[in-house]
Amino acid sequence: MLTPEQDAVRGLARAFAEQEIVPRAAAWDQARSFDRDVLASLGELGFLGMLVPEQYGGLGLDLPTYLVALEELARGDAALALTVAIQNGPVPAVLLSHGSDEQKARWLPDLASGAKIAGFALSEENAGSDPSAITTTASEEGAGWTIRGAKRWVTNGASADLMLVFARTGEGVGGRPDTGAFLVDTASAGYRAAGREKTMGLRASETVSVDLDGVRVDGDRLVGDPGRGLSYALEALDLGRLGIGAQAVGIAQAALEHSVRYAHERRQFGRPIAAFGGVRSKLATMAARIAAARALVMESARAWEAPDAPGSSAALPVTARSAMAKLVASETATWAAEEAVRIFGGYGFMREYPVEKLMRDAKGTEIYEGTSEILRLVIGRSLKRWEAAFATP
Ligand SMILES: Cc1cc2nc3c(=O)[nH]c(=O)nc-3n(C[C@H](O)[C@H](O)[C@H](O)COP(=O)(O)OP(=O)(O)OC[C@H]3O[C@@H](n4cnc5c(N)ncnc54)[C@H](O)[C@@H]3O)c2cc1C
Repeated sequence: MLTPEQDAVRGLARAFAEQEIVPRAAAWDQARSFDRDVLASLGELGFLGMLVPEQYGGLGLDLPTYLVALEELARGDAALALTVAIQNGPVPAVLLSHGSDEQKARWLPDLASGAKIAGFALSEENAGSDPSAITTTASEEGAGWTIRGAKRWVTNGASADLMLVFARTGEGVGGRPDTGAFLVDTASAGYRAAGREKTMGLRASETVSVDLDGVRVDGDRLVGDPGRGLSYALEALDLGRLGIGAQAVGIAQAALEHSVRYAHERRQFGRPIAAFGGVRSKLATMAARIAAARALVMESARAWEAPDAPGSSAALPVTARSAMAKLVASETATWAAEEAVRIFGGYGFMREYPVEKLMRDAKGTEIYEGTSEILRLVIGRSLKRWEAAFATP
């Protein structure tokens, strides 16, 4: 059940998606790029700073309301929604939780308005699921830092203005290096987008390698503690995963809507295929599983907002909750898109029809911000603690 505010935000996001995104999404997929004017429009509506407090120019929405909007945008186009998710999620989250007052005042208004588009550069060639293996370094030199290394698969890596770069600042202890989080202008000398990947899905989203060849940043570009950047990144991914969960639900919802429409139009054996039990059963199962995934994403978001509220299963850490939400939603999206391709028959396999794109896009949600295998590890680790909390005294 949505609150009146959530319903209003949902209506605004859906109307925007219907007018500005849905008609262009297939062309963006073909062109491997979305029109930049759409980001400006999203910025004007406040959709690039939904979680940023109003004092910094954002909408100051709560997490569930943001996720309702993100789902609607992803229903229109998941590639665009990925940029929206990064802009709203992990980057401002690190700033809000760990940035200084000066950093918040300097960067958050531009992120919220879309004047600056952001990216999050953690992964490297040999450090994906295990970010503690990053080899990019930041050395303190004079009043600032020099960053050297290479990042991989950075969304918006070429066109972003501001990149949150994670780099080793020391050896650390227990196999976890000291790591800093640095706000890097992508126009800095030594920052180079080194190559754009040809991705299976989310083709309009820019996934690029970035070389950091002696990039100089001033001391005020370090966020928080120079040894705790990796913890900040992991915390931000907990939030980010809820965004990817909402993105996945949006893809799944689009698959369902296309399937329902098609099944009522397409006739075989003298009847619409929706009249056949086999097809109707698929549609019904899709609707039920998508509703369940959405409910889990929303419940996890509400628990994030109020972890101590009665009945919020506070014993289950937010890390496990957001991992569950992303796991279930992304696997539901992949499954639902595949069902949609089946319902469309041969047409489902054709580029002119919308569902093959959904199948390609959905697959990405199972990979970035934690693969399904890593999410199962995260959830598995928390189960003992959860069980203890529910044990009868
Ligand atoms: C479209 C796209 C956009 C992306 N955007 C960004 C971005 O903006 N910023 C960024 O920093 N990164 C980004 N990434 C990178 C993404 O986060 C990584 O690809 C992801 O974390 C997996 O890392 P990897 O590819 O190195 O796979 P690996 O870690 O090498 O994993 C390979 C396989 O092994 C499995 N595996 C690994 N470890 C374990 C384990 N302990 N137990 C069980 N199975 C395991 C994995 O689940 C996977 O199936 C993006 C990736 C994609 C595809």
